[in-house]
Amino acid sequence: MPINVLFSACAERWDQFERPLKSAFGEMGLDVNLSTSINPADVDYVVYAPNGGLENFSPYTRTKAVLSLWAGVENIVGNKTLTQPLARMVDHGLTQGMVEWVSGHVLRHHLGMDIHIHGQDGCWRGYFPPLAGNRRVAILGLGELGLACGSALAGFGFPVCGWSRTKKNLRGITCHHGADGLKSILSKADILVLLLPLTPETESLLNANTISMMPEGSFIINPGRGRHIDDKALLEALDSGLIAHATLDVFRTEPLPVDHPYWQHPNVTVTPHIASETRAATASQVIAENIRRGEAGEPFLHLVDRELGY
Ligand code: NAP
Repeated sequence: MPINVLFSACAERWDQFERPLKSAFGEMGLDVNLSTSINPADVDYVVYAPNGGLENFSPYTRTKAVLSLWAGVENIVGNKTLTQPLARMVDHGLTQGMVEWVSGHVLRHHLGMDIHIHGQDGCWRGYFPPLAGNRRVAILGLGELGLACGSALAGFGFPVCGWSRTKKNLRGITCHHGADGLKSILSKADILVLLLPLTPETESLLNANTISMMPEGSFIINPGRGRHIDDKALLEALDSGLIAHATLDVFRTEPLPVDHPYWQHPNVTVTPHIASETRAATASQVIAENIRRGEAGEPFLHLVDRELGY
């Protein structure tokens, strides 16, 4: 009997994933019936993204796991009909993409690249940026993505500190945790990168109070989730100069409405939720491995803690 795997995501994703998934299943010796349409009671695994329209998991009575294509699971983790194990996406390609995007934007602000990109006006501006060793980078979230970005930035010579929920001891990164740790890390954040999951604890974490803890003229880079930031507080901090620039990839409403003040603000860069994406070639291996584990009775990888929400 083949293993029935329902693919529930938008049509564009099916086009990207059908072949890589089938070849990953084949390489792992799994006999899989992969389809976008299977009778719910016959589904063994669901490959899931929130844009596939699946909301009620109750009829999926024999489903052994729901395998998210997304790293962030805030759209599904609170779904009361979901009683099956939920695995989030941890994909080498997605991680590498985030490291490249974060490094690029950190280096842009560190090097003051805008001075020259926007200054092609005949004026000879002799600006020398400090070396990386003199620019402190702080990363909120030391999980799969935050740790990879922090390690890459430490490799450039930036003094990197990071913040997590639980206490950590990481090579090359000064670690903070908990409420006291947040105050301490924000006070040293010349460049702040947000790579937290969206949970009730992290919603509006960056607000008037916490932004006021940051050094004058600091930078914010947010590829986490839009709801981590109180937009009004950030705009006020940008207008006052406390925050020199914000590079934002994620927003409370996406696409960001055309009349949103972020679009017009001279010190805001908007990118359209493109910091990184799940890559079909590498992510298919992860999905196949989890199905292999499920069939072998082994523990699933990257399970979401439903209480914590990530
Ligand atoms: P992850 O591996 O689950 O790591 C989450 C990190 O956040 C962990 O270090 C965790 O602490 C920390 N954390 C969670 N709640 C906290 C709290 N209340 N206080 C302090 N720290 C807390 O997640 P990930 O794979 O790195 O992904 C992070 C987020 O990036 C995703 O949830 C998603 O929102 C976003 N993302 C964005 C894009 C994009 O294109 N813009 C792409 C992919 C992902 P512990 O280590 O102590 O558990």
